Amino acid sequence: MENSLSLTGLSPDDNGKVIVCSAENMVGQDEATLLLNILFPPTIQHLLSPERDHHWCIPFTVTGNPKPVLHWYHENKLLEEQDYIRTMIHESTENEDHGCLQLVNPTHIHNGEYRLVAKNEFGRDEKTVLAQFIDPPNISHPGSFPVYVVVGIAGVALTGCVLMVIILKYGRNSKFGIKGSSSVISNDDDSASPLHHVSNGNNTPSSSEMGPDAVIIGMTKIPVIENPQYFRNSGSMLKSDTFVHHIKRHNIVLKRELGEGAFGKVFLAECYNLVPDQEKIHVAVKTLKEATESGRADFYREAELLTNLQHEHIVTFYGVCVESDPLIMVFEYMKHGDLNKFLRSHGPDAVLMADGQHSILVELTQSQMLHIAQQIAAGMVYLASQHFVHRDLATRNCLVGENLLVKIGDFGMSRDVYSTDYYRVGGHTMLPIRWMPPESIMYRRFTTESDVWSLGVVLWEIFTYGKQPWYQLSNNEVIECITQGRVLQRPRTCPKEVYDLMLGCWQREPYMRLNIKEIHSMLQSLAKASPVYLDILG
Ligand code: ADP
Repeated sequence: MENSLSLTGLSPDDNGKVIVCSAENMVGQDEATLLLNILFPPTIQHLLSPERDHHWCIPFTVTGNPKPVLHWYHENKLLEEQDYIRTMIHESTENEDHGCLQLVNPTHIHNGEYRLVAKNEFGRDEKTVLAQFIDPPNISHPGSFPVYVVVGIAGVALTGCVLMVIILKYGRNSKFGIKGSSSVISNDDDSASPLHHVSNGNNTPSSSEMGPDAVIIGMTKIPVIENPQYFRNSGSMLKSDTFVHHIKRHNIVLKRELGEGAFGKVFLAECYNLVPDQEKIHVAVKTLKEATESGRADFYREAELLTNLQHEHIVTFYGVCVESDPLIMVFEYMKHGDLNKFLRSHGPDAVLMADGQHSILVELTQSQMLHIAQQIAAGMVYLASQHFVHRDLATRNCLVGENLLVKIGDFGMSRDVYSTDYYRVGGHTMLPIRWMPPESIMYRRFTTESDVWSLGVVLWEIFTYGKQPWYQLSNNEVIECITQGRVLQRPRTCPKEVYDLMLGCWQREPYMRLNIKEIHSMLQSLAKASPVYLDILG
């Protein structure tokens, strides 16, 4: 018997809804389901004037099913996308894409009309917007010359412009020293870019002039190279009145290298006159050598972010030293280094290898593992309360101090030593796919719920003494596995209660996952139930 169901009055909003067909007779029942997939032509909902986030960005929202193909025209000429100018999609749902045309350091030659054309097999839509990044040089009115044009007339031409940018940058830096050791790094976009000063008088709104709703969370190189929350100025993280503490270079004495960070070496150092009742303390300093302009901007933004993140399970950030090259960030020293290395060196393999030597390596107990997990969860509860999405939670980004004190210590920067943990998806984008839920892999959607998924993977890492998740699979196989709904197996030493917690973190639907507060309190009670013998690790 062939029958059909007619549906009328549907709209694209019905996409994703499920139709269930159930058949029943006296002998039994059967049912089948169908996911609605309504096809419709593209519409460009918004195409806004450019705004300055980390880079310049022309924001847009486009709908259509199937996903429309996008083309940009600048002054009626098809725009060839490249590293400096390219379309970035920040958020993608079944029907809708939010993104922007990102322009890195545009100049007046990029001013003009931008047309976005969206096409799919059912139709097309287009919208235009005017962009004015920088006023063109005005030779007939010397009084109104932008600074870089004055330099150009002096005969220094292009290199002069570059020099000027650097000089302006240092000019801005000199502001840091005004109030002795502490001063303001403004989060205002005007002060963040010398080019923006040059562009004074143009019509382009800076993101600080727009309402918070207009601030697009830039997802330029997600997530290990940049965390877009560094560039957000509407959230609680980057307050315009952030005071970044400045430390004098002569107060920092380097002792030895601790490791290699994403942007430079990390050293153990002694820092004088940092805390009131101690002449000097041990600190970890992260260096940034020969920073490019955008490297410096990232550095300052990260410093502001770190200044505002303060919690007992987030590594303490003491301040910056920017007197000369390299730029330095000063953190509390965590004696046992990163948690992944720590777990490996207190696992069965390390204990086996140390056998015969006079080393006193001790395998971690279950209660110590719970104690570690509980502290990371506490740090994550705090980050979630600050509406901060970490995006790269993993044991390699946590640090271990004395008495098994664990803190989250890294906020979205990549590392060479762990490069196999990241998956390069083209250009600069590197993703920690083994820690990511399906929606982050498929749509680059990162939320507090996706952090909860990663926390589940961190629990798995802890209970396997630092194994790499899906170590037996290649990156492509991992992507296939996760998107198909497979989850990591229960580690040998993991109690059922903890594996249930992991499964609660790995629910496919983000809203079905455990809440970070619940996870923390469950871990807390499990840890309480099995006391930790901290002195074993000394
Ligand atoms: P980046 O964030 O630039 O990638 P990392 O935080 O990864 O740098 O640091 C590299 C290495 O330096 C870590 O694996 C760790 O061993 C060491 N390290 C970093 N910060 C500290 C710290 N506060 N205390 C002790 N060791 C640290």
